[in-house]
Amino acid sequence: MKIVGLTGGIGSGKSTVARMFEQLGVPVYFADDEAKKLMITSLPLMDKIKKRFGEKAYDEGRLNTGYLAKVVFNDPGSLKALNEMVHPEVESHFRKWLAMQDASYIIQENPLLYEKGRQDQFDAVIVVTAPTELRIERVRSRDGATKAEVEARIQNQMDQDIKVKSADYIIQNDGDLGSCKEAVRAIHKNILSTIP
Ligand code: ADP
Repeated sequence: MKIVGLTGGIGSGKSTVARMFEQLGVPVYFADDEAKKLMITSLPLMDKIKKRFGEKAYDEGRLNTGYLAKVVFNDPGSLKALNEMVHPEVESHFRKWLAMQDASYIIQENPLLYEKGRQDQFDAVIVVTAPTELRIERVRSRDGATKAEVEARIQNQMDQDIKVKSADYIIQNDGDLGSCKEAVRAIHKNILSTIP
């Protein structure tokens, strides 16, 4: 089974694209969503997080994201530590999920695939791009975030041009949803043609 990575900066439309692949019957693993779930369901992981960040990391079983964001913002070392705790859990969860799939290929949607240097773990990588102004507009209306907030989040991510250079497939998502779907269909067809 081929493992295809799907990534793109915030607001590029990668979740939208991921759902379009799902509609074509491709199983999609949403790495970020699963990571968030594991942080509140995996007891060994929760123990590690509490040991490093204190009981305050959780608030009545929910992740205290406000507190964690503050800690991580003031100390980049702690962000690395958190990632190093979460990553192996997600990886083993993904492998178990993968073993249950019956398809010629699957997709892992991963916002920070390049930032985390994971590109070599995939048979192919799809990068979704869109002009920065459009990404800001989309996130503003999706999350109700301010322009400055979205810009700060974009600043924290790797430049899309760098991702595009090493992508196997690029979806320039600057048109309507119909043309996005067309691009998804074409890539789906192409991936299937590479599978014996
Ligand atoms: P990401 O997962 O990359 O952050 P999303 O897929 O959540 O981005 O898309 C951001 C917002 O933009 C969502 O509200 C989505 O519905 C919208 N969107 C994405 N692509 C398009 C498009 N081609 N046309 C119109 N709206 C779009």
